[in-house]
Amino acid sequence: MIIIMLGAPGTGKGTVAGMLEERLGIKQVSTGDIFRKNIQEGTELGKLADSYMSKGELVPDDVTINIVADRLEKPDVQKGIILDGFPRTVAQAEALDTILSNKGKKVDMVLNLITPEEEIIERVVSRRVCSNPECKTIYNVIMNPPKQEGICDKCGSHLVQRQDDNEETIKARIRTYMEQTSPLVEYYKTKGVLRTEEVSQRINHLGKDVADEVERDIKNNIL
Ligand code: ADP
Ligand code: ZN
Repeated sequence: MIIIMLGAPGTGKGTVAGMLEERLGIKQVSTGDIFRKNIQEGTELGKLADSYMSKGELVPDDVTINIVADRLEKPDVQKGIILDGFPRTVAQAEALDTILSNKGKKVDMVLNLITPEEEIIERVVSRRVCSNPECKTIYNVIMNPPKQEGICDKCGSHLVQRQDDNEETIKARIRTYMEQTSPLVEYYKTKGVLRTEEVSQRINHLGKDVADEVERDIKNNIL
C-alpha cells in the first residue's frame, strides 16, 4: 500500500504518518527528516538542503526525486510506504508515478490534511520534536506537552525545536506550499485517490482522529 501525506506545513502530516506507521506496520519516509539528518551530519546534501530549508523554499526536484527513487528500492518499503512530505511539486508527482508504474505499483491513497492558517502558525511555533532519529516523536508545548519538560516520554531523549519552526520561516513555507504544492490536490483528485481531512482544534478533529478513521477504513477495505 502506498500512502502519500499531502498538506501545508504544520497540518499534522508527520504526526498522522507516525501513527499510521505503527498501526498499519508500513514504513513512514519523510523527505524533511532525510534532509535534517544530512544537515546534522554535515554532508554535502545537508549543506545544499539547508540553504533552501532555512528560507522556507523547496530543495530542487532532481535532488529530491533521486533520494526518493533510491529509498523506494530498499527492502523495508516493498510491502508499503507512507510518504510524508513527498511529492511537493507536480514534477515530483509525475516522477513518482513513473517510478511506481515501472514496478507495477501505484499511489493508493493521498491523505490531504487542511488546517486554518492561524492554527498552523500557533502549532508550529509551539512544536518540539524528539532529537533521537529512531524516535522523532512530535510534541506541542501547549496542546500535547511531554510529562517532563524537554524530555521525550517514549525514549527519554531531549526535545528540540526545528530551526525552520519560527514565525518568519513558517510564513514562507506556507507561501511555498500555496504556489508549488497545492496544485497536487487537483492532480490526485483527478486520479480518484484523494481523501481530504480537516485537522483543527476548532472543530475538535485532530491528527489522532484522522489516523483512527483511516486505520479503520483501510482495515475494512474502504478506500
Ligand atoms: P513541513 O511540512 O512542516 O514544512 P517537512 O519536514 O516536510 O516539514 O519539510 C521541511 C523542509 O524540507 C521543507 O520546507 C523543504 O525545504 C524541504 N523538503 C521536504 N520535502 C521536500 C520535497 N519533497 N521537495 C523539496 N523540498 C522538500
Ligand atoms: Zn523519543
